[in-house]
Amino acid sequence: MKAQTSGRRGVSHSCRASLGALALTFVLFTTTACGSGRPEGPPSAAPSPTGSYTDLHDQVRLKGLGKRRFDQERYWEVVGPVVEKSDRLRVRVVGESAEGRPLRTISFGRGPLSVLLWSQMHGDESTATMALADLYALVAEKGNHRMVRTILEGLTVHTLPMLNPDGAQRFQRRNAQGIDINRDARALATPEGRVLKEVRDRLEPAVGFNLHDQGIGTRVGRTDRGVAIALLSPPFDHSRAINDVRLRAMEVMGVMVESMEPLVGGHIAKYDDTFNPRAFGDLITQWGTSTILVESGGWEDDPQKQYLRKVNFVAILAALESLATGSYEGVGTDSYQALPSNGRRIGDLLITGGTVVIPGLPPFRADLLVNYGKPLLEEDGTIGEIGDLAEVEARDTLSLDGMYIHPRDRALDRSDGGVQIRVGAPAVFTVSRKVDGTDPLWTFRGGPPEEIRRRR
Ligand SMILES: [Zn+2]
Repeated sequence: MKAQTSGRRGVSHSCRASLGALALTFVLFTTTACGSGRPEGPPSAAPSPTGSYTDLHDQVRLKGLGKRRFDQERYWEVVGPVVEKSDRLRVRVVGESAEGRPLRTISFGRGPLSVLLWSQMHGDESTATMALADLYALVAEKGNHRMVRTILEGLTVHTLPMLNPDGAQRFQRRNAQGIDINRDARALATPEGRVLKEVRDRLEPAVGFNLHDQGIGTRVGRTDRGVAIALLSPPFDHSRAINDVRLRAMEVMGVMVESMEPLVGGHIAKYDDTFNPRAFGDLITQWGTSTILVESGGWEDDPQKQYLRKVNFVAILAALESLATGSYEGVGTDSYQALPSNGRRIGDLLITGGTVVIPGLPPFRADLLVNYGKPLLEEDGTIGEIGDLAEVEARDTLSLDGMYIHPRDRALDRSDGGVQIRVGAPAVFTVSRKVDGTDPLWTFRGGPPEEIRRRR
């Protein structure tokens, strides 16, 4: 993820350097080459209260969740001991997944206002699940902290982490039935969706947090900057009208935005607010709970989303504190409404200047766009487009001026007698200085080999 801070508008290709002098050099450089890198000033320079939230996170952050892929068993190995030894945290099994994994709520606080947070209904979206683990550690270890006491006294907080453990097991979006749980709020064909509905109906929370991850290629509005966090108050119908339920969500999000500004300022966006009658966020809003959608995107040099884990922790804590004290009231909707929208999604890697060599065809000049199945790891790339892609935007660019691209068998389609490279084919090819493929230099196997990966 290239979380740029450059304020310049325009498209990333406009800042591609000429590599004429480097024609025989393989330079994988990133769109940050034309940005200014990270936001100015270290996050620790953040004004209070964000600074106090980040300090707390540094103190309680749980070890053992350093990679964003973990299964339910692993999660409970880390979280279980924290939860079980604290009398401030209450665990309840509220159902099970399609494959029989337990679904648990973890609750704290005895206050009058009920809040529900659920995470990872898409099995490969774990950022907030990690942040919730740190929240349990905070409650367990810092029960006498002024702010924690305020939350415990003002709120009853229920969390349902990793709503889709079967998907998490495979690190896939959908559940074991192959259903997208977030398109199942109306039909309720999934046990996980039914559990979420039952929990919401039983608790009738005033505020709900619907915690997700989104693609890392999404830009902030029309800028070149990547989205770190996108927020949404989901609409309750096609009119997108703002009632009191949504007003409260928007005011709380105003508080969240303020808390995140020192950490990811300029990289916060608003998610698309088209009403979706199958989606949980929209229907839970309709059912009367002020719902806040949080989508964690990407951040530079954060492939395991550990920085965004911290940002989630900070934003959730700021929201809970303001709900406990009522300080969100009167914040208004401007801060939320003024957020730029999630903009276009750009591709992952643009390969320019090469000549493609397919058996039976004359060699031809073509750019290639590669999109990764695992963009954070730059793996499982497939061909997204072939041809003149001078105007196509991508997070990274690889110049192969003067080089020959020899697709490997896996990338070629021979099904109709000829040989073709098709959009959607695995991006597997060898790069050579020679048109006949002798003297191969390196092979792209769904992602660049280590020697030409960008330096992190
Ligand atoms: Zn999601």
